[in-house]
Amino acid sequence: ESGGGDHIGWSSLSAGGRVPLGLKRKSLRIVVTGGAGFVGSHLVDRLIARGDSVIVVDNFFTGRKDNLVHHFGDPRFELIRHDVVEPILLEVDQIYHLACPASPVHYKFNPILDSLICGAHKTNVVGTLNMLGLAKRVGARFLLTSTSEVYGDPLQHPQAESYWGNVNPIGVRSCYDEGKRTAETLSMDYHRGHGLEVRIARIFNTYGPRMCIDDGRVVSNFVAQALRKEPLTVYGDGKQTRSFQYVSDLVEGLMRLMEGDHVGPFNLGNPGEFTMLELAQVVQEVIDPNAKIEFRPNTEDDPHKRRPDISKAKELLGWEPVVSLRKGLPLMVSDFRQRIFGDQKDSDA
Ligand code: NAD
Ligand code: UDP
Ligand code: UDP
Repeated sequence: ESGGGDHIGWSSLSAGGRVPLGLKRKSLRIVVTGGAGFVGSHLVDRLIARGDSVIVVDNFFTGRKDNLVHHFGDPRFELIRHDVVEPILLEVDQIYHLACPASPVHYKFNPILDSLICGAHKTNVVGTLNMLGLAKRVGARFLLTSTSEVYGDPLQHPQAESYWGNVNPIGVRSCYDEGKRTAETLSMDYHRGHGLEVRIARIFNTYGPRMCIDDGRVVSNFVAQALRKEPLTVYGDGKQTRSFQYVSDLVEGLMRLMEGDHVGPFNLGNPGEFTMLELAQVVQEVIDPNAKIEFRPNTEDDPHKRRPDISKAKELLGWEPVVSLRKGLPLMVSDFRQRIFGDQKDSDA
């Protein structure tokens, strides 16, 4: 897809449908909440490159200015330090709502609101309500980044969007799972009740450069451990599975979803499924064949398996991931190496 006016053809990435590329596409004003985070900052890169104006709203709970510093000084870019739990007035065409403490160490240790930083549940509920209220007031299109966690510890495999899930409402993960489920409910209520244009993405495990290094997610843990010459910590017996998606595939899916005509929900994930032991093996191949594996007790309510059924996104969005785990992992190694060791020479970037 090209946002410029230099091709003959059609742009699939326009606000209200397709516009001939000979006529320059109107530049959009887009809010990205959580835009200083891992996924959000990659999305911002693509939107700016396409020619749109972007306002990032982020409270820097896990996000970092470093992820966006290359846009500072660009008149089409604006960064607002703001917690989405508080109302905000902005005039925009589209809202990508990503703000959320997204990794287990962050949401488990801060499950409900405390005075300064916001827990996952309150962010998901009150933050999403505010962004929906904003979208309603200005008539903006609203995209929610939900999660595969809405399927809980799934009894159906692979998971299709029609599956209602198996979620513990009172467990340690519930603030996240149930928060996102409520966010989906709110989005559909605003869609049905107020005619709001909404889009819902259910994102499966995603990795890539700019991931938080010490947030406890398995890919960032293993990569950082291998680089630091520490053992790879496999929880439980390591036979539980996940399906890992490279961040550029996700961003492409989110943009297609926003620009398309379908509400969703859509699973956005890579169907390639790995046990945690297999993942550890890939990390050994890519970073350090001598890396040791150390078993640790698993965490509570850990889903046993997870793999997206992406038939719906393939058919209706024309989307599927193109970067395999073995291709994608090496792409995050130099970023991690630089952030862990600072300026030291990166020998195999
Ligand atoms: P991230 O932690 O890197 O980014 C989240 C961003 O939201 C951070 O910049 C953080 O500072 C900001 N934020 C958190 N609470 C906020 C608040 N109350 N107000 C304003 N900003 C706030 O995580 P990510 O991996 O980039 O995740 C982005 C979105 O995608 C999240 O909604 C997450 O639930 C969803 N998701 C991610 C994955 C994944 O594997 N990365 C999987 C499923 C869903
Ligand atoms: N809201 C906001 N920005 C806006 C419009 C609304 O933050 O531009 C917030 C508003 O403060 C409210 C929430 O969004 O808490 C829901 O707004 P809505 O108008 O849908 O509901 P109401 O205020 O009528 O309950
Ligand atoms: N995990 C692991 N070692 C780690 C971190 C996580 O074996 O150092 C496991 C964890 O128990 C889970 C899987 O990896 O089964 C994915 O965990 P993550 O927190 O990355 O994502 P989520 O559970 O949210 O899918």
